[in-house]
Amino acid sequence: MSENELVSPGAELGFEEEYEAGEGVYIADGKIYSSVLGERVIEGRTIGVKAKKKLKNLSIGDVLYGQVGMVAEPVVALIEVLAPKKKDAYFPSNSDYCSLHASSLKRGFVRNIHDEIKIGDIVRAEVLEVKKTEVCLTTNKNNLGVVKAFCTKDRAVLEMKEGALICPLCGRNEIRKVSDDYGKAEV
Ligand SMILES: [Zn+2]
Repeated sequence: MSENELVSPGAELGFEEEYEAGEGVYIADGKIYSSVLGERVIEGRTIGVKAKKKLKNLSIGDVLYGQVGMVAEPVVALIEVLAPKKKDAYFPSNSDYCSLHASSLKRGFVRNIHDEIKIGDIVRAEVLEVKKTEVCLTTNKNNLGVVKAFCTKDRAVLEMKEGALICPLCGRNEIRKVSDDYGKAEV
């Protein structure tokens, strides 16, 4: 792997014993992974990833809507911030990416983020942390989480029925970390 190689979220960068974790990375099971899409940067013993897209104008506590662009198992999802449609949410420029780590997804331990959120899902999330190279989101509140999800088999929009997410086409019952108003947000 060359110094300025472009890496995706979830890319394995090295071992915790080799490097110090810098910006844009996370540690799982002693290994260091990228949590953003960007360039790998090593400075001394510190390894980090410089995000390719600049994240502007986001502050802690801002609420936004985003679409899950990628799930880098087991611990991070990349959220593409959506253009504004509603007044109650704050939106930065289009095509900004933020990351949602499993530890901020919901109360309790999430073994694999893919069990709770899937590519294409629309989420309402709050900005938890703004770093130089990474904006971290949380969905760990009742009003946050998936507001619209699609069947993994046929992509139909899942419907909430008696507390379960059901596909109207094939009848599948799927699991998500949903917001308490699932299906009602105009997204
Ligand atoms: Zn279905």
